[in-house]
Amino acid sequence: MIKIDFLTIFPELIRPYMEGSIMKRAQDAGAVDFAFTNIRDFTEDKHRRVDDTPYGGGAGMVMQVAPIYRAMQHVINDRTMQKNRHVILLSAKGKRFTQSDAQRLKKYDHLVFICGRYEGVDERVAMHIADEEMSIGDYVLTGGELGAMVIADSIVRLLPHVLGNAESAIYESHTIEGYREHPQYTKPEKFNEWHVPEVLLSGNHQSIDIWRDEHSKKTDDFQ
Ligand code: SAM
Repeated sequence: MIKIDFLTIFPELIRPYMEGSIMKRAQDAGAVDFAFTNIRDFTEDKHRRVDDTPYGGGAGMVMQVAPIYRAMQHVINDRTMQKNRHVILLSAKGKRFTQSDAQRLKKYDHLVFICGRYEGVDERVAMHIADEEMSIGDYVLTGGELGAMVIADSIVRLLPHVLGNAESAIYESHTIEGYREHPQYTKPEKFNEWHVPEVLLSGNHQSIDIWRDEHSKKTDDFQ
């Protein structure tokens, strides 16, 4: 079982997604255990503030290192059994997340996602607390929660026994870099004069395989 912790000031944004559909099934099956820690519970400020103005001046507020450090210590103490731990700081300037990262990250016993907010997070979190900084794309979000959910979802669906046979596919888009799956169709055969390709109705598996192969994209097609 993999343990996944989310450190955030908005656990209520993440929790519903992780407690529905396939994420819930994964948790019920014992493949994953999610936990949510509110960083505000670890501030010593009487107003529960977790941010302050940036040194050197400039717009916006920066998340402080101390509440994140204490939240992290709490998570580590709670999860002492998990030795093979990896801590990811969500960051617009981090390494862009790909399917091969999902394959790599699913091998850890314990993943911790630190979700930033405001103008970002005190750099000492990246330097001393996180193992890596990860971005989900070249754009700026208001917070790291969406990124943490995206990465966690893509990892959990790779764990054994999470997807049913009908849903699982060994050869999916991005499983090999540059690969894109062939188009899929289902009933009805005709809708609004939009037809399913004849070959898929033929029952000839050899022809179907050739069609699917021709209609998928491989690395070479992108070069
Ligand atoms: N000022 C920062 C910059 O220019 O890189 C952006 C801060 S953003 C408004 C606040 C938080 O959202 C970040 O600390 C990070 O946790 C999260 N975030 C924003 N964009 C992200 C992305 N593309 N991928 C992952 N996390 C992101």
